[in-house]
Amino acid sequence: MIKVEDALTIILNSIAPLDSETISLSDSLGRVLYEDAFSSGDIPAFDNSGMDGYAIKSSDTVGASNETPKILDVIGEIKAGIAASMETKHGQAIKIMTGAPIPKGADSVIMVEETEKSKVKSQKSKVKIFKEVEYGDNIRKAGEDIKSSELVIQKGTLLKPAHIGMLAALGISRAKVTRKPHVAILATGDELIDVEEQLTHGKLRTSNTYTLYNQILSCGGEPANIGIARDDIGDLEKKINLCRGHDAIVTSGGVSMGDYDLIKDVLVRLGAEIKFWKIAMRPGKPVLFGIMDGKPVFGLPGNPVSSMVSFEMFVMPAILKMLGQKDDSIKEVEAILDEDIKKKKGLRFFLRAQTRWENSGYITKATGPQGSAILKSMMLANSLMILPEDEEFIKKGAKVRVRLLN
Ligand code: AMP
Ligand code: MG
Repeated sequence: MIKVEDALTIILNSIAPLDSETISLSDSLGRVLYEDAFSSGDIPAFDNSGMDGYAIKSSDTVGASNETPKILDVIGEIKAGIAASMETKHGQAIKIMTGAPIPKGADSVIMVEETEKSKVKSQKSKVKIFKEVEYGDNIRKAGEDIKSSELVIQKGTLLKPAHIGMLAALGISRAKVTRKPHVAILATGDELIDVEEQLTHGKLRTSNTYTLYNQILSCGGEPANIGIARDDIGDLEKKINLCRGHDAIVTSGGVSMGDYDLIKDVLVRLGAEIKFWKIAMRPGKPVLFGIMDGKPVFGLPGNPVSSMVSFEMFVMPAILKMLGQKDDSIKEVEAILDEDIKKKKGLRFFLRAQTRWENSGYITKATGPQGSAILKSMMLANSLMILPEDEEFIKKGAKVRVRLLN
């Protein structure tokens, strides 16, 4: 039996990041950027107006107020998208729209709301300015968002809508991202049926196939459901062989001490090197990890909660490493325990918990019965309480570490 950290170290040391593919920006949500993205020019590329108004010289507005407006000559108009060659001189204003380039000579823009076009017929091209503006007011400077040659998005970043918009702004029309890890899922157990099959006495629907499938999806992998293997060496060999060629294999069930827990033996027969079996944790103690054809194989226990928790603790970090993703999707916080807890010494416990923000800190409480077959406890949880190996009684009010689930 090894410690949780050691298990994770062994797993991560056995895994290399995958190669890349280049995809359209519209398909890149949730993908991981494979190379640093740099800017090739300033964004914005030119000084432009932040408001609809008039491009003017700020010194022409000194003393302007509602009672003592300044009057300027409107010499033209610049729309957004137009490269204007006009110049603002003293006593002049150029009508300007949001996003339009600032004309030469202007050092500020006054909002249209703080002006009034003259109503006198002979003064049609005059504008009244009711407020002083400062030098630079309402001008968006070239490069105020992004400077030329700046490292804008680091490789390993999980792409969210803002990142993708930024890639477009940078003129990067296709994103180079890590290819998705293909992960095979194999459920094992004579008692298992798939959801569309008729449930008969003694049988159980393979819920793990579907939780694992979606856990793989939610951390950026590409799952493949290989089906159900019977607790039989021949069938297990056949189905595990079908998993070969994927970037990783996740099996569920068949790794405990029962007479029909055959995964380990079958993997060895198929040439896998077993790196460890059994971790000092609950749920998830019988987790097995090996390497077959140079690819990781995770033997997760069959109990629904054990399967989910061990996926969260070991398979997810492995997938993130394959993706080259920086670790911002794993979040742990400190929380105050809202109940007394008794646990077994020697094992790290992961309790399904509801963790909430109250006043100025997190408070955490288990989600009812914690048996590792009770999937409801997982469904009601937004977090896992992490209780250290050497503790036995933990009192209400104690500080505990909590993993927030996505
Ligand atoms: P095992 O790890 O094979 O000893 O299975 C432990 C428990 O998990 C048993 O009660 C199984 O029926 C249950 N179990 C195994 N595989 C699955 C699965 N794919 N979906 C839901 N429950 C499962
Ligand atoms: Mg079984």
